[in-house]
Amino acid sequence: MTHAAPQQPAADNPDVTVITATSPMATPSHGGRAKCLQRLVRLDLPVPPTVALSFKAVHAIAAGEMPDVAAIVASFPDGALLCVRPSSEDPDWGGPGAMLNIGMNDARFVELSDTIGRDAAASLYLRFVQSYAVHVARLDPDMFDEIDQAGQEGLTLALAAYEEEAEEPFPQDPAQQLHEVLRSMARAWEGTTARLLRQARGAPANAGLGLVVQQMALGLGQGECGSGVLQLVSSETGLRQITGRYLSQSQGREALQQGTKALFLTRDPRGPSLEELEPEAFEALKAHAELMRRRLRAEMQIEFTIENGNVHILDGVRVDRSPRAAVRIAVRLAEDGIIPQQEALMRVDPHSLSELLHRQVADDAPRDVIGSGVAASPGAATGRIVFSSSEAQASAARDEPCILVRRETSPEDIRGMHAAVGVLTERGGMTSHAAVIGRGLGLPCVVGAARMKFNLKRGQITTEDGRVFKAGDVITIDGTHGQVLAGAPEMVEAVLDDSFQTFMTWADEARDIGVRANADTPADASTARNFAAQGIGLCRTEHMFFEEDRLTPMREMIFADTPEDRKAALAVLLPMQRADFTELFRIMEGMPVCIRLFDPPLHEFLPTDRAGLRDLAEALDLPVSDVTRRVEAMGEYNPMLGMRGVRLGITVPEIYDMQARAIFEATLDASRDGAPVVPEIMLPLVSAKREVEILRARIDAVAAAVRTERGADFTYRFGVMVETPRACLRADEIAQHAHFLSFGTNDLTQMTYGLSRDDAGRFMSNYVQQGVFAEDPFHVLDVEGVGELVAMGAERGRQARADVTLSICGEHGGNPESIQFCRAVGMDYVSCSPFRVPVARLAAAQLAIKDRLGEDV
Ligand code: PEP
Ligand code: MG
Repeated sequence: MTHAAPQQPAADNPDVTVITATSPMATPSHGGRAKCLQRLVRLDLPVPPTVALSFKAVHAIAAGEMPDVAAIVASFPDGALLCVRPSSEDPDWGGPGAMLNIGMNDARFVELSDTIGRDAAASLYLRFVQSYAVHVARLDPDMFDEIDQAGQEGLTLALAAYEEEAEEPFPQDPAQQLHEVLRSMARAWEGTTARLLRQARGAPANAGLGLVVQQMALGLGQGECGSGVLQLVSSETGLRQITGRYLSQSQGREALQQGTKALFLTRDPRGPSLEELEPEAFEALKAHAELMRRRLRAEMQIEFTIENGNVHILDGVRVDRSPRAAVRIAVRLAEDGIIPQQEALMRVDPHSLSELLHRQVADDAPRDVIGSGVAASPGAATGRIVFSSSEAQASAARDEPCILVRRETSPEDIRGMHAAVGVLTERGGMTSHAAVIGRGLGLPCVVGAARMKFNLKRGQITTEDGRVFKAGDVITIDGTHGQVLAGAPEMVEAVLDDSFQTFMTWADEARDIGVRANADTPADASTARNFAAQGIGLCRTEHMFFEEDRLTPMREMIFADTPEDRKAALAVLLPMQRADFTELFRIMEGMPVCIRLFDPPLHEFLPTDRAGLRDLAEALDLPVSDVTRRVEAMGEYNPMLGMRGVRLGITVPEIYDMQARAIFEATLDASRDGAPVVPEIMLPLVSAKREVEILRARIDAVAAAVRTERGADFTYRFGVMVETPRACLRADEIAQHAHFLSFGTNDLTQMTYGLSRDDAGRFMSNYVQQGVFAEDPFHVLDVEGVGELVAMGAERGRQARADVTLSICGEHGGNPESIQFCRAVGMDYVSCSPFRVPVARLAAAQLAIKDRLGEDV
């Protein structure tokens, strides 16, 4: 086959045009494949002659307006066989499958029998009849089931079957065949199923389809003929490694089908290779792929055909890649000077990074899905089912990985969560307890799996399809996709290699908004440092009180009758808190650490079952009835809107006094032998200026007392969490007393919508499916509603105090879409779970680059 350009079908018609180096061709009008083929033509690669049909032309075809098909056929050499491929704007949007061998008919069969042999010609014709029947004439694929014969005999039977089923002979006119193929592909694209499918992949409803009509390089015949694909890197790792397959006497992507006798490309101890069979063709292919990498500035997979030893390049598509490979490919392209660093950063989807940071279920592993819920914390883990925290701890002690299954988790489950490898809950949403802690610990977690039946008394869960799983049964949590799987599918490990580190350093150089981590424990803080967080933006101190040795003094403090008794109990907690903070300060080595004073309702620390009440009665030397009565008395109808946060600080001020003292003493201890520490102290759930005034005065007094007692000076920064709608509205007067304001968008979302963060999981997926909410607002910040409050709060805060530091510490801080909003309202930093820090760093870098270079990078 020669590559002389065919005649222009209509010289001045950009909608149906031969692809030449200069023909009018653009991805938004002709699709990515057509544009790429033009680039290959410009590189002088051996691309068979091709005609491109624009989106407009294909849209017209779907509406019944055909272009001059005979002219298209006439523009190729006489008797050429043709193929048609889709060319959508983004290859991920899919499109109808390719149709090969158009133009094949009885006459061509006779001619080809002479040149490539009767069997090869028959096999080619047979393939065409079959795919035409199914994809164009839309006949039942079963009609060919009975035909086992190959060669001419099979062909004759297939043609007869076609005629019987279609009630007309197989069309012989190449122009008519092409006409029908074009019409069928154009109409398939406009059909509802295809539209919904591509919309699910992010395509706009009116996305266009282009088509390319290309002369076939046959891949069948005498001499070495065949087809295959080749790429220079591994799709899995991104490492340089020639990857692909070649199959003699084949077409399209047949070499990739299982069970074929496809060859390796490079020499391989496992079997014969193209390199040995056709060394020259192999070298040519490698050179073409290298040239494409350099000039198309991307790792490409090439689809090629060898015809009598000669190489033809039919197509080039971006190499499929895992997130890990995507990072390595981008870094290598930049390091080889092919693309600038900034462009490398733009080429990786920040969301995909979280897959890189955790183990995952292998892409090709079979999945036996037994339940689904909110994908609350990414990564996958396999373990035996346990139904309580104590069983989880016992299981961990036996070195047996376990999945903690709970209706929902509460702070009492923290140790169980530490012991488990994954968590599954019936209730909850993106910001429920299990979700927040799971993300903090990097623990795969699915919450709100409400369609499974959780029967905790019987120790079993029943799946939607009626299967029962009991304690001890092995399941897998896929927190990336929100799925629960039976058994132990194959996993792939997380890898943070050199490319990842290089890539993230580039991201840090590009971004203009800070990224801190939400970290409560030394382990969290170390993870945060590993991921290069620029400090801790939120340390939720209440989690520290659930440690075994603290729960009892905590309960004594809650039960104390007088301020003196309370102080005595707090005096036991003080050294423990001081040690907590000292350790955090030491790990963070002088980076900012923002500590939020105690937030949850006190009764969360009290036992709920009889055994717990009895234990507590023993510890306090009180009758069980007394303890029970007081626990009941502390109950609230609506604890999330009740006695919590700063309201406790005002009414039981000794707790905050103790915490402030612990922070200041730890500041001095850590600064003595390390980098100087400037702690940040933050009040939760503020709604009124007076709350801030009163507590600021008290904390200042504690600071003064510690300075005097220790004879040493320090400074601290005082801030307020803006997480009630009223705090947003009154941010100006609140900011007068605060160095910083940190938006707690979890509570703010809850209160703005009047939507319980712990119960939303029950109906959230339904709401999102029905389009009531575009997204779960606990996951992606609701810019229109909650965002308006945040923007107002930021604006008012800045008006009152120009140098006020603004940040976000709700879960949205790790979500790329929400970071865009935070940056737009002028926040200084975002703070998110440690494992989301890299995601936030890359998202922030991309936003800054987009701003600098415009949208078209
Ligand atoms: C918030 O409400 O956004 C927040 C960060 O605090 P928490 O999730 O601990 O309530
Ligand atoms: Mg909150």
